[in-house]
Amino acid sequence: MSLTRILPLFILFLFVSPAMAQTSQPDWAKIEEETMRHFQAILRLDTSNPPGNESLVVDYLKSALEREGIETKVFANDPKRANLVARLRGNGKKRPVLIMGHTDVVTVDPTKWKHPPFSATREGGYVYGRGATDDKDNVVACLMVMLLLKRMNTPLDRDVIFLAEASEEGGGPNGIGFMVDQHWAEIDAEYCFAEGGGVVRTGGKIQYAGVATTEKIPQGARLVARGISGHGSVPLRSNAVVHLAQAVAKVAAWRTPMRLNETTRAYFERLAKISSPEAAARYNKLLQPGDSPGGSDDAQEYLAVNEPRLYSTLRTSISPNIIKGGYRSNVIPSEAEATLDIRAAPNEDLTWFFDEMKKVINDPAVEIVRNQAGRPGSPPSRLDTEAFRVIEEANKRVYNVVTLPTMLTGATDMAQLRARGVQCYGIGPMTDSEDGPKGFGAHSDQERILEEALHRFVRFHWDIVVNLARGNAP
Ligand SMILES: [Zn+2]
Repeated sequence: MSLTRILPLFILFLFVSPAMAQTSQPDWAKIEEETMRHFQAILRLDTSNPPGNESLVVDYLKSALEREGIETKVFANDPKRANLVARLRGNGKKRPVLIMGHTDVVTVDPTKWKHPPFSATREGGYVYGRGATDDKDNVVACLMVMLLLKRMNTPLDRDVIFLAEASEEGGGPNGIGFMVDQHWAEIDAEYCFAEGGGVVRTGGKIQYAGVATTEKIPQGARLVARGISGHGSVPLRSNAVVHLAQAVAKVAAWRTPMRLNETTRAYFERLAKISSPEAAARYNKLLQPGDSPGGSDDAQEYLAVNEPRLYSTLRTSISPNIIKGGYRSNVIPSEAEATLDIRAAPNEDLTWFFDEMKKVINDPAVEIVRNQAGRPGSPPSRLDTEAFRVIEEANKRVYNVVTLPTMLTGATDMAQLRARGVQCYGIGPMTDSEDGPKGFGAHSDQERILEEALHRFVRFHWDIVVNLARGNAP
């Protein structure tokens, strides 16, 4: 055992609270072997979506859980794309906690992979495979937590429900929407833990733990410009391509208003405390009252250029991603169209937003066509809950870092649960911030996870669930 392996354990003991000390700890060395066995087995099941075939993972989980006497149920809209629910019963004193992971993965181009994408190859302290960090890490952590709670016969004040869900990547009718609409009673819970967070390590040093407490709402739209068609040798002022190009340039340059919420405020406050003085000054500037639109302009501009993900968390964002118009060089087309990827801040007033966009474009030849929102909006999950508190404590104990509540710019299946009033927290394993840009992140051709990070994540997951659900022994 190397020093780097001993140190985290040593830190773990340092931060053991009296409450934790009363709980017997699982035999982690043995658990690590078992975790790796299940993780590799699950990674080797090809659940690329489309088509999905998530039932492969459901069958695996079902037998692993039932072998140890844990009750499971399978719900399928399509027999190949099942969802699994397992439940450990508590004494009902508190409402359930739902732990979940999605079993589908994004598709692969196998020719680009050094290690075959469904081989779960172990090399140099990593496990490689599609789904290694999205989201089979959460799936296996949930499985291990269920097995441990059952084996240790942990008395529970609330039910612990495990949902292994299909069809997260790209939505669709088989996963969370199906469960929420048709089998709500099976997953109804006070709290949920799912993907979306993670512990950030930079230069080998753990910086902070991000916990996703809210996310932006995807809200697409199209800009359609219409003009008079004609011969390309006679340019027209009404040319639809020209009107569209001007409209696209205007919406892209539009600095939409800042919309901070409880999550993003806390995020920038806490981030400032662990940042360099320069960066801290910038983050604090964003939080000053009356800063919008004047005072924090330079700080905002800095983020727009250098930290675009953070900039996006400040506001509803617009990215024009598809542009179409015309079909031959000598014909002035009568129509041209641009597709905008709009990600609304959770507290955005969308009626106001689109009225304002119309004013920004200021061109009667351009129509804004809104798409249906793909996921419902809802307020951020609260930071003053028992669940958030146990997460903060576990991050101290397991990683010795502070917790930053974060707003995801992308969308997850937590949206549907939050809309039903469940307080949801996105968690995840430790990753090196250098890994993503090098091409080893989620959805990449070399998706991988540090073995050490996977095992620590299982400990962290067990810690939060046990501290949230454990009751007193009868
Ligand atoms: Zn995912």
